[in-house]
Amino acid sequence: MSEKSIEVCPICGVKIEGENKVLFSAGSPGSRSRLWVRVCQYIKKTGCINQDKKAIGEIQPNDYYGDVEDLPLSPPKPTPKPLTEVVSEMLESRGNSSS
Ligand SMILES: [Zn+2]
Repeated sequence: MSEKSIEVCPICGVKIEGENKVLFSAGSPGSRSRLWVRVCQYIKKTGCINQDKKAIGEIQPNDYYGDVEDLPLSPPKPTPKPLTEVVSEMLESRGNSSS
């Protein structure tokens, strides 16, 4: 048996493999400090398994600014103009040109 122990945080739903490997539900694996910075520090419920400062260790700058695909929020896509607006613009330009 060479399986590493995997703990699942009942609050965050994140898996922690071994000592310091956090398996996020999306994106690449990170460290406990990354998990804490991004998730656990905002959670005020008891039961989160990633609140032990000793285990978390030092927070690294790239724990905050990681890979873009790790971020829960993606930049908003430009929404296409509503059809009614397009039509009214067409009608306006037609009215102006035929005077
Ligand atoms: Zn947690």
